[in-house]
Amino acid sequence: MKYDYLIVGAGLFGATMAERLNKEGKKVLVIDKRDHIAGNVYTEEVEGINVHKYGAHIFHTDYKDVWNYVNSFVEFNRYTNSPIARIGNEVYNMPFNMNTFSKIWDDVFTPEDALRHIDEEKKEIDHEPTNLEEQAISLVGRSIYEKLIKGYTEKQWNRPCTELPAFIIKRLPVRLTYDNNYFNDRYQGVPIGGYTKLVEEMLKGIEVRLNTNYFDNKEEFDSMADKIIYTGALDEFYDYKLGKLEYRSLKFDTKILDKQNYQGNAVVNYTGHEVDYTRVIEHKHFEFDVTSPKTVVTFEYPSDYEEGMEKYYTVNDDKNNALAEKYRELASKEEKVIFGGRLAEYKYYDMDDVIKAAFDRLEELK
Ligand code: FAD
Ligand code: UDP
Repeated sequence: MKYDYLIVGAGLFGATMAERLNKEGKKVLVIDKRDHIAGNVYTEEVEGINVHKYGAHIFHTDYKDVWNYVNSFVEFNRYTNSPIARIGNEVYNMPFNMNTFSKIWDDVFTPEDALRHIDEEKKEIDHEPTNLEEQAISLVGRSIYEKLIKGYTEKQWNRPCTELPAFIIKRLPVRLTYDNNYFNDRYQGVPIGGYTKLVEEMLKGIEVRLNTNYFDNKEEFDSMADKIIYTGALDEFYDYKLGKLEYRSLKFDTKILDKQNYQGNAVVNYTGHEVDYTRVIEHKHFEFDVTSPKTVVTFEYPSDYEEGMEKYYTVNDDKNNALAEKYRELASKEEKVIFGGRLAEYKYYDMDDVIKAAFDRLEELK
């Protein structure tokens, strides 16, 4: 065999596996069907600004080993995600914290004041929440649900909140402090020089072939390596023989503007139905750049998945989870193929989870 490992996909899962295996002295080939490395974390320089081509990416983790690992390739800046939410002519701090509560209710100054309102509004739900609407109301009450959750969530998933699973909202922090940090994790930042630089460093010295789709020459690729590490879509690997898994997609409308500062923050969420986009990203604010003369902004529109689009979000409802489980059973019987990453495991993974999952898989290979 020419290679020990053929790695399908140059995203974070593939790059971590490639880097670690290469370090161990294994012969590795990485292929990707796109014309660039880094998968969905890819950044591209436009007007001297690192543009997150597939949506805003903030690295945050509680795993010290993962944080040390990524920092061994590039330096990270001190970016802390503090999105703001706009609805109509109002603006609120995210995630839900004392800054939000004191603006929603004009008699709120202390955590006690906030709890008085939230507890009163929560009473509406007197049973274990069965859907996202009930979950949200029992978390923060109806006032916040209607201003900051309902519209955003319905645009994101194209379904009423009463028909969505409760777990989607569970990861949103609720804080009784004046802290606008979106994440609870210990480590957070954005790689200086962009995510592409991070992945470039990881893949240094490793053979990479771009514009190369595994399925165009599957037999030939299979004959080239002892083992295949596959990070593409799980159902596609099996030619959808048990049925298609569902995904949500996004459309990005990116503009270069002739001004220094468009919105004063990297991420602004639009939580109402008065506009169709959910977020506007101003990329320079990930890097604390307010002096360059131009700015690059991206309007993010949620979209149903259609053939040829990117599969951004898995739809982990009961129906799709059951189908994914059947595919996973098939996958677990493969002797030559290792499935990993967001698409191949059909899981909502953050970047650090993907790297952690790769570390775990490497342990199993030993
Ligand atoms: P991918 O990055 O999708 O890599 C898979 C690669 O495989 C792709 O490059 C693809 O082209 C290639 N491939 C697929 N099929 C084939 C084939 N047949 N042949 C060849 N190549 C193939 N995470 C965070 O931690 N923080 C964030 O702020 C954050 N924001 C996000 C925002 C958005 C809009 C989205 C969609 C995700 C966000 N994430 C965030 C999650 C993050 O993007 C993922 O965790 C990570 O990119 C997954 O890496 P991966 O290697 O599993 O998948
Ligand atoms: N969400 C919301 N309002 C917001 C931001 C998020 O209601 O302003 C909800 C929405 O249901 C979304 C979920 O929280 O699907 C998770 O959002 P987050 O930004 O954490 O996840 P991402 O979209 O980046 O995966």
